[in-house]
Amino acid sequence: MTPNLSIEFFPPQTPEGADKLRVVRQKLAVLKPEFFSVTFGAGGTTQDRTFDTVFEIRSEGHEAAPHLSCIGSTREHIREILHRYRDAGIRRIVALRGDLPSGVGFAGELRYANELVEFIRAETGDHFHIEVAAYPEYHPQARSPRDDLLAFQRKVAAGADSAITQYFYNPDAYLHFRDECDKLGITVPIVPGIMPIVSFSKLARFSDACGAEIPRWMRRKFESFGDDSDSIRAFGLDVVTGLCEKLLAAGAPGLHFYCMNQSGPTLALCERLGIGA
Ligand code: FAD
Repeated sequence: MTPNLSIEFFPPQTPEGADKLRVVRQKLAVLKPEFFSVTFGAGGTTQDRTFDTVFEIRSEGHEAAPHLSCIGSTREHIREILHRYRDAGIRRIVALRGDLPSGVGFAGELRYANELVEFIRAETGDHFHIEVAAYPEYHPQARSPRDDLLAFQRKVAAGADSAITQYFYNPDAYLHFRDECDKLGITVPIVPGIMPIVSFSKLARFSDACGAEIPRWMRRKFESFGDDSDSIRAFGLDVVTGLCEKLLAAGAPGLHFYCMNQSGPTLALCERLGIGA
């Protein structure tokens, strides 16, 4: 059975970037993803670009899921955004707390993602399918693994329909997290977020910032390739293919690709997995 796929973009910053993303989207559409999601910058800087990208995806006939974060925002502003999406026929939202850009002092009226989910339900009832974030290796600011799990449970209790995880390279982390959720009676689908590996140095920087672990054996091997980008790409493809195979064999309900606005790595991965096209 083909697993449900979804693919995440960030909003392009320039007209050239938007042109490039149109081509990327066309190529990725052969995978027949359930939806394309578009990230949202807390603090206001990229928000219009999120709208533009979402509406364009929708006008091409694909399901688009905007991300929406609440940090640094007001209820009134979030209400406006929700109504704009609802009026445009958007049916799915990825609801997040977000991270404040440095220098932004106002924390916002909703403090955590569970409050945002609650607000979306209060404002728009069952209109939206709400996705939330989950962290198999735990969120870096969580006081403890237990607290993070309970925070996830609150998001589901507030009305989230399903979850997408932060990316990870250790399948046991996902399987353990799923068992812990089972024990708490959390039954929503938890879709693993998959980050294809293209550049090790970029991945290492990014992973440190968001608390995703690159296992030592992988790190050592990537480092041994130096600047040999072909070997990095080939090894990255092997590792991530193996990860996806294990997750799907263990019953993961789908895969969400952090494609970084590139089609090649995600297409190569799906070809190796024998899914899509
Ligand atoms: P929350 O679920 O609110 O959790 C945040 C932290 O607070 C956790 O440590 C949690 O344990 C803790 N916590 C929760 N409730 C409480 C409480 N009551 N008391 C004390 N602590 C509490 N960021 C963006 O800016 N834009 C995006 O588009 C975006 N898309 C993302 C998509 C996915 C699939 C994922 C996994 C992440 C995404 N992020 C995005 C990053 C995300 O915004 C950050 O990880 C952010 O720091 C946490 O958001 P959250 O929704 O998980 O927050």
